[in-house]
Amino acid sequence: MTETALQGPIRVRFAPSPTGFLHVGGARTAIYNDLLRAHLGGELILRIEDTDRARSDEAMTRQIQEALEWVGCHWDEGPALQSARVERHRERAAELLARDLAYRCFCTSEELDAQRRAAEKAGERFRYPGTCSTLSAAEVEERLAAGTPFVVRFRMAQDNIRFHDLVRGDVDFPPDALDDFILLRSDGSPTYHLSVVSDDIDMRVSHIIRGDDHLSNTPKHIALFEALEAPLPTFGHLPLILGPDKKRLSKRTGATSVEEFRDQGILPQALYNFLALLGWSPGDAREILSRDEMTELFTVERLNTSAAVFDRDKLAWMNAQYLFNLPLEEIWPHLEPFLAANGLADADPDRLEAAVTLHRLRAHNLAELAESIGHYFVDRLDYDPALCAKFAAKAELPERLAALRDRYDALDDFAIDPLDQALRALCEEFGEKAGYLIHPLRMALSASKKGPPVFDLVALVGRPATRQRLDHFIAYLAEIAPTSE
Ligand code: GLU
Repeated sequence: MTETALQGPIRVRFAPSPTGFLHVGGARTAIYNDLLRAHLGGELILRIEDTDRARSDEAMTRQIQEALEWVGCHWDEGPALQSARVERHRERAAELLARDLAYRCFCTSEELDAQRRAAEKAGERFRYPGTCSTLSAAEVEERLAAGTPFVVRFRMAQDNIRFHDLVRGDVDFPPDALDDFILLRSDGSPTYHLSVVSDDIDMRVSHIIRGDDHLSNTPKHIALFEALEAPLPTFGHLPLILGPDKKRLSKRTGATSVEEFRDQGILPQALYNFLALLGWSPGDAREILSRDEMTELFTVERLNTSAAVFDRDKLAWMNAQYLFNLPLEEIWPHLEPFLAANGLADADPDRLEAAVTLHRLRAHNLAELAESIGHYFVDRLDYDPALCAKFAAKAELPERLAALRDRYDALDDFAIDPLDQALRALCEEFGEKAGYLIHPLRMALSASKKGPPVFDLVALVGRPATRQRLDHFIAYLAEIAPTSE
C-alpha cells in the first residue's frame, strides 16, 4: 500500500472482553498494538471490556494480564475496567439525547421481533425503521409518565460513511447498511458501541487496531465520534485467523488460546514471533525475529490484507528454533513447571542442565524436552518389549554388550571420543558396522530408539549408570529372548 508513514507518538489500546482465556487472535491484536507503539513511541492502554458481565471478575482481569505478560506484550496504562466508567457512558447518552442526536425508543421487543421476522421472510436484513425517531416531545413525555420502558437509540445520519482503514484501504458503508442503533438498553446499561467510543474518546486513543470482526461496527463508531465532537482516530482492521480447514480458527482443529499453547510447552518468544508473522511480514525472508527486531521493522503497510492460516507445524518448528537458540537462562523459567511435572524439580542441577543442553536441540516443545530427559534421573529403566525384540533375537548380542560394558569400564577417560573409539574398535573385532552396537547401546541407556548422538548420551549417563543399565539390559534381553525350541 502507498501510505504516508504513521507518525508517533500514538495512543493505542487493546480492549479484550474477559472470557477466561486469551484467544490467539486477541493476542495477535495485542502484539500488533504493542509493536506499533514500540515502533512509533506513545502508549498502549489495556482496557478490560467487562460491561457484559454481571459482575466484574478480578480473576479474569488477572488472567488476561498474566497471559499478555507471559507472551511478552507490554502496556503502559491500565488495566482500566470499562465497568468502572458506566456513569460516564450514561452521561454521554444523556448529552446526545439533549442535543437530539439520540432519541428514546419505546418499541417493544414483540414489535421488533415481528418486524425482524417479516424482514427475514422478505429476504431482507432487518433495520430498525425509525418508528420512534419522530415522536413529539409531548408523546415522549406521556410515555415516560406512564412508565413505558425505553431504550436510547442513536440518530444515524442517512449518509455514506467512508474512512481509510490502515489495513484494508478505503472503506465505504452506504446508509442502508446502518440503522439507529441502541446506546442504552431498557435497564439503562450502555451498549458496547457507546462504551467503546466513550472510552476511546476519554482515553484519547489515536489509532484503533482491532480484529476484522469489528469492521461493521466502525461506521457506527465513526458517527458517534462525530456526534460527540471528538477527533476521529485512525482505524485498522486485522484479517481473521483461519484454521487449516480454512474456517475461523476454532477448537475443532486444536488449541486456540495463549494459555493452552503455554501448557503445551510453547515458549512465549516463539508464540510472539509466530503470531506477529501471522498477518505481517518484515519485508524480507526472515522468520525468526525478536520483539526488538520486529519493533524496529514494524509498519502497518506490511500488514496483510487477507486472512492468515494458523499453521501448527510451523509453530512447532519455530518453537524448536527458539528452544535451540535462546540462552538457557531464558528458557529455564518456562521449563521449570514441565520439569516439576516430570518429577525433576529436585534433580541434580548440573546434570539437569547438561541433559537440557543436550536434548533441547531435538525437542519441539518444553513438554517433550522435560519428558525426554527423565530417563537420566531414574534408577531403573523400563524397556518396551516391542522395541527390544530385534535385539533379543540376536543370540550373540548379550555377550557382545557385556564386552562393550567391560571396555567402557576400563576407559581412563569416560568421554565422548574414547567412548566412540572403543565401540568402533570392538565392532571391528566382531566384523560388524558401528551401528551394530550403537542401537542396542542407545536402547540400553535410554529405553528409546531416538535421542541425541549416542556417545553424548553415554557420557552424560556416566560410568556407573552405564554399567548398571547395560547389565540390566543384558538380563532383560535374556528374559525376553525367543526360546530355541
Ligand atoms: N471488546 C472487544 C472484543 O473483545 C474489542 C473492542 C474493540 O477493540 O473495539 O472483541
